[in-house]
Amino acid sequence: MGPPGAGKGTQAQVVAAHMGVPHVSTGDIFRANVSGDTALGREAKRYMDAGELVPDAITNAMVTARLNEPDAADGFLLDGYPRNSDQAVVLDAALTAAGQSLDAVVEIVVGNDEVVKRLLGRAATDGRADDTEQVIRHRLTVYLDQTAPLVGYYRGQGLLHTVDGVGAVTDVTERILAALAR
Ligand code: AMP
Repeated sequence: MGPPGAGKGTQAQVVAAHMGVPHVSTGDIFRANVSGDTALGREAKRYMDAGELVPDAITNAMVTARLNEPDAADGFLLDGYPRNSDQAVVLDAALTAAGQSLDAVVEIVVGNDEVVKRLLGRAATDGRADDTEQVIRHRLTVYLDQTAPLVGYYRGQGLLHTVDGVGAVTDVTERILAALAR
């Protein structure tokens, strides 16, 4: 977990490779569908471009299908999901039904000003449609309103590891791996 620009995607890729589990990023799956101009991509794009969450029915079905693929049978690293309490509840139910459970939740903490600075930098290099300043600020609001409350949900389950996301990419990776080793 972490606000947009916290480094979730970057860190999740490295940590998943280190642990030998698939990196399941809902944002990446949506973007692949947008690029491929699939029905799912056309539907998701409207929300993504506005910085809104894609509706839960679409997102939950997509994640559940992905986690049922054979490569996820022995573990996975979710990136960008769940993003609201309904998704968290659906995930818990899907995992319980599959005889699985979450081992850990990592929260990457980065302040608002730093996040906006990073995302505007990414906008200049990657050209993501949702990295304009107005959409960035809206995505941050959506994170604070809908996603941040999940920190308490997972802390209550004893799963939460909070990591400082400011510093070199490799330093942040070390902090995450150290937290997970505990
Ligand atoms: P991300 O790459 O994780 O920042 O996601 C980019 C965009 O994809 C988000 O701003 C949402 O529009 C959409 N998205 C990604 N994950 C989810 C999710 N779990 N629920 C709803 N929408 C999502």
